[in-house]
Amino acid sequence: MNFEYKSLVLIEEALRRLDKGFSNLPASDIDYDVEALSNVISEVADRLQDNFPYFHPYYAGQMLKPPHPIARLAYMLSLWINPNNHALDGGRASSAMEKEAVAEIASMFGWTTFMGHLCGGGTMANLEALWVSRQLKPGARILASEQAHYTHQRISGVLGMEFEAVPCDSRARMDIGALRHILEKGGVGTVVATIGTTGTGSVDPLQEILKLKEKYGFRLHADAAYGGYFTLVDNLSAITKETYDCLSEVDSIVIDPHKHGLQPYGCGCVMFNDPRVGALYKHDSPYTYFSSSELHLGEISLECSRPGASAVALWATQRLLPLVHSGEFSESLSKSREAALSFYGKLLNDPRFKTVFEPELDIVIWAVAAKNTSEISDLSLRIFDVAALHNLHLATFNYPSACLKGIWNDVDFDRDSVTCLRSCLMKPEHEDWLDRIWAILDEVTNEVTRNY
Ligand SMILES: *Cc1c(COP(=O)(O)O)cnc(C)c1O
Repeated sequence: MNFEYKSLVLIEEALRRLDKGFSNLPASDIDYDVEALSNVISEVADRLQDNFPYFHPYYAGQMLKPPHPIARLAYMLSLWINPNNHALDGGRASSAMEKEAVAEIASMFGWTTFMGHLCGGGTMANLEALWVSRQLKPGARILASEQAHYTHQRISGVLGMEFEAVPCDSRARMDIGALRHILEKGGVGTVVATIGTTGTGSVDPLQEILKLKEKYGFRLHADAAYGGYFTLVDNLSAITKETYDCLSEVDSIVIDPHKHGLQPYGCGCVMFNDPRVGALYKHDSPYTYFSSSELHLGEISLECSRPGASAVALWATQRLLPLVHSGEFSESLSKSREAALSFYGKLLNDPRFKTVFEPELDIVIWAVAAKNTSEISDLSLRIFDVAALHNLHLATFNYPSACLKGIWNDVDFDRDSVTCLRSCLMKPEHEDWLDRIWAILDEVTNEVTRNY
């Protein structure tokens, strides 16, 4: 964490500069007991050691990516003001920064007129998108693939909407034949296309879904919470790129800056293609301070109080690393994808392992070869545990056997699902660290299989 010590100097300079802007006020300092603070913060430092080292390249498990130092600095600095982006009176500067930052995200998808804002995360963002769908398509069903995030089914329950899961093809993408079959039965109001599933990073075939939208007239929502930013990279496969190229045609998009956008948690984003949906949020609150006739963020958001700090951090990050093709940000995303492809290549060429399909983004799924799915699942769990003892942190993923039957022809499927290993190679450094990661995996796999 060497750089973090250097960056602390910057926060002091910036705080003095911020403070200057309020120098017309009489001093109102409170003297806190520094020793008491020091004791508690030391205790916090000790407690926080009980975590996986998410910031380190040896953490190659779940979707965890450290915030960029500029995000951390901007977030910290704004806490001295603690703006609330619910209303303009709660945070004029941070509301303006939110609008600018969200407009930059929208333009990444080719949207210039749109309605959108930040929120707590992907769950909240998807809730808003489906809540808008419910008002426009009342009483109609919501569809998402079997590999879509479980939140869609749960949100449908919260909204009192019927939900149906669409089966997946052998690459964990929504199966178009199955989707058409369900649409023919009628009563579908919204289809959720997942642009980068949480499990395998699979991308639903939007171009095919758009053709069906023309015929059946449903609303199309893109859950790009994980995969949205990959629209900026130049190393997608041709078929995946086709989907990204038509992303601008959907009705709503969700993207999580706190996943691949280098932000601290608490930063999701929802955007609607048609700004008129803003009218659906209409409320008549006597509490909010309406200091402006301009439509402000509290009027187009389900959440009320929200951290302005999130908007400030996002704005600062995009200022430093603009969301453009062939820029520093997109190049670092390309490196994550390169790391995943290299890792996949190594697994593919090693008879000890079984793979599923070439990663569409930067998530790799694999397992140790064995004769049946019980043994494969067992070995995955052992490798997960033993690797952690060697400082390599992986994740596991329960893959439905039905999806693997067409891929693993030599395996006896004695279970409904198979526990596989999973790595989200989200850090650009993963590419440079791949040989070291592989060396540990190699040793751990030999150790586990020898003793099995
Ligand atoms: C992470 C994720 C979500 C949920 O978002 P949170 O930010 O965890 O609330 C929804 N959909 C997809 C595809 C995701 O990857």
